[in-house]
Amino acid sequence: MNYYQLFLTQLEEAIEVCKIDSTVAQTLKLPMNEIIIHFPVKLASGETKIFKGYRVQHNNILGPFKGGLRFHPKVHLEEVKALAASMTIKCALQNLPFGGGKGGIKLDPHQYKQEDLLRISKQFSKRLAPYIGPNRDIPAPDMGTNSKIIDVMANHYPGAHHKSVYTGKSIVFGGSEGRLEATGHGLVYCLESYFNQVGEMIRGKTYIIQGLGNVGFHAAKYLDRLGCVMVGCGDHTGYYVLDNFSVDEGKEKEKRKNLDHISFHYIEEHIRKHRSLAGFKLDGIKKVDKFSFFKTECDMVLPCAMEMEITKEIASEIQTKLIVEGANGPVDKDAELILTERNIVILPDILANSGGVVVSYFEWLQNNQFQFWKEEEVNLKLREKISETVLRVFHQVKHKKCSFRMACYHLAIERINMVYKQLEI
Ligand code: NAD
Repeated sequence: MNYYQLFLTQLEEAIEVCKIDSTVAQTLKLPMNEIIIHFPVKLASGETKIFKGYRVQHNNILGPFKGGLRFHPKVHLEEVKALAASMTIKCALQNLPFGGGKGGIKLDPHQYKQEDLLRISKQFSKRLAPYIGPNRDIPAPDMGTNSKIIDVMANHYPGAHHKSVYTGKSIVFGGSEGRLEATGHGLVYCLESYFNQVGEMIRGKTYIIQGLGNVGFHAAKYLDRLGCVMVGCGDHTGYYVLDNFSVDEGKEKEKRKNLDHISFHYIEEHIRKHRSLAGFKLDGIKKVDKFSFFKTECDMVLPCAMEMEITKEIASEIQTKLIVEGANGPVDKDAELILTERNIVILPDILANSGGVVVSYFEWLQNNQFQFWKEEEVNLKLREKISETVLRVFHQVKHKKCSFRMACYHLAIERINMVYKQLEI
């Protein structure tokens, strides 16, 4: 099952309970537009290469298509379709005036110089221009892209409206304060609200985190400030856990000796220097394989890297009470069944990583209204929005006696269905 099929099964499960109009249900299962663009780029070496770019526009009943652009070697149409559809659900759940879109280029950003990445972005922006616009489709950064890339794309969009065409820009080009950290912060606000609701303190909670890119890095940084305890971390270059933290099944847990947590300070220093965890070394920490990493006992697991990372094999062995999906679709279908059976709660992607699109909306508002909000104001508004949504989701979980994922889907598709009904489409 690929990520798009996973999305469809989740959607179908939700539709069955919500009993929405069958035309709306069919509409949600298919994207409105699937755009594939092949474009040549002359690289710094003088070589010209052809790249493959995508933009999928899933649904715009609630407003312009909205969603990130991803640079990753595994980008393909089915993945982009799933990500675009998931944006429709995310925006509807957060009551934003946006629909869902997603795009990207199939390339490994680690294999290109910064100069080449900017050349590629510039050409892609020109080719994408006819399909996007401030009231039509508003791209943003995602995996493998950042505000620098978005600045270049915004600045090569023809016409006067470039400020509102893309979100996730640098402040100097009309970006919002707090956008860089928004997805990671949103994830932690979601956790804070969750623990408030279940009557537990977030301080002192242990966790492991996969992915220390934009989402994972800022989530971990904030969790550190709140007094949470990192006991394992990993990225595409390797996984690390506390040495004295047993990860082998059946083996008696050794007492923690030197370290009782992985200090975020060292992670931050290393990542700033090396852009990944490659070569990460610290007394009291050992390198493990992915499976052992996910078996580390902790209060919460934060997958913040890729989709379909938590499989049924991992789900059977994972030693936690809570999974918070920073990445999109990190838990596959079989894994979710096992986790549910094991009473492990999943805070789903469509809720937990929606901080980015919420602040993208704040950025779009500020640009359209010629306003500039301070960072504290952005964070306060984001926290309010997330905790209000978490409350609604909790209510739905109790009311419908369903999982958090299904509760989010119900709220989102009921809103979409209502708008279709009102507009008599
Ligand atoms: P990023 O490119 O900044 O970082 C990705 C991280 O994942 C890096 O630490 C990388 O090493 C790690 N990674 C990549 N491939 C891996 C693999 N095969 N195994 C283990 N680790 C791997 O990306 P990001 O923006 O942090 O996005 C991460 C996830 O969060 C994606 O699923 C993305 O769609 C989702 N997301 C991002 C945003 C955002 O605002 N950036 C918003 C919502 C959702």
